Amino acid sequence: MKVAATPATPTDRTSVTTDGPLISVVLPMRNESRNLDRLFERLVPVLERIGSYEMVAVDDGSTDDTLDRLKQLRDTYPNLKVVSLSRNFGKEIGVTAGLARTSGRAVVIMDSDLQHVPEGIPQLLIPWQNDGYAIVYARRVGLDRGGFVRNLLTKTFYRMFDFMSEVKIDRETGDFLLLDRRVVDAFLAMPERNRFNRGLLSWAGFKTTTIPLATAARHAGTTQFGFLRLLRLAVTAITAFGTLPLRVWTYIGTLFSLSGLFFGAYISVRTLIFGADVPGYPSIIVAVLVSAGIQLIGLGIIGEYLGHVYSEVKRRPLYLVQETVGFPDSTPDRAPLLNLDLPLAPDMNWSDPEI
Ligand code: UDP
Ligand code: MG
Repeated sequence: MKVAATPATPTDRTSVTTDGPLISVVLPMRNESRNLDRLFERLVPVLERIGSYEMVAVDDGSTDDTLDRLKQLRDTYPNLKVVSLSRNFGKEIGVTAGLARTSGRAVVIMDSDLQHVPEGIPQLLIPWQNDGYAIVYARRVGLDRGGFVRNLLTKTFYRMFDFMSEVKIDRETGDFLLLDRRVVDAFLAMPERNRFNRGLLSWAGFKTTTIPLATAARHAGTTQFGFLRLLRLAVTAITAFGTLPLRVWTYIGTLFSLSGLFFGAYISVRTLIFGADVPGYPSIIVAVLVSAGIQLIGLGIIGEYLGHVYSEVKRRPLYLVQETVGFPDSTPDRAPLLNLDLPLAPDMNWSDPEI
């Protein structure tokens, strides 16, 4: 079977840089209907002052009227383009779907709930324009995301990620950032389904800087990142960027076996000297529970990685687009994976002996 020797690289892909606007803004949104008016009222004047721009709103399977409202808003804001996904794919993938349709020389990614203040965009542009930075992160200032427990868990996540992963991420930065077109191309060339965007960007490298920007409270509605969703993202992040959680079980297992052996030797010697004694239930029960628990954790972690491998080998598309509004017909969807040159084209020559 003939398979393309190398997967598509950014240079293989349709170039969109020549006649695109200066700035694209990607706005992932799920059920943000009540924030839209205010968002565009504040965002558009800022962009008008900057120069040519487009706004790519990604409707990530909203169940309210976000999509209809976006379509209506196009009458007022002709530079607004809409990508509607076929269901909720999650924010990381929503952002990817937006990036795949942008054509600006730089792309700003920001939340749609006005937590990322639109007035901060010109500040993100300065290091890109003046100093050639390819990634400019807004560093969160004055952000308290909700109580002691969430802050503690966030801190724990960053510690674990730092310790276990092969890439580094800055814990002060969030998802309000500017990317140079080169970085967007590199990002879109990364084919994995299990995506943690900040990790992927860090892996890509490029000249990166951060600038301080105030973060506001959500304009309307409530956060969609509850505890379980954040936990899912944290596990994806950690398992997608390192194999330490997999490998560590060899050492833990060795430690447990050795301590078991030593304890066994100690008991034997003690029995020879002092004779057998009956007590010891609690210690046996504790030992059984702890070792069973540890084995289950180990199995669970193997399961996490296996799950990732499974979802990768299924080779499903990263997302499905149900509808787009406002794009010229020629705008390609540069989703990761779509352009891989696999021998599955309908015009394949089935009589080719090499197939
Ligand atoms: N979002 C999305 N898909 C989802 C969940 C959230 O596109 O499945 C968007 C959401 O509309 C918002 C941004 O991602 O623009 C951040 O979400 P949210 O405000 O709920 O999270 P938080 O700011 O609390 O981290
Ligand atoms: Mg928010």
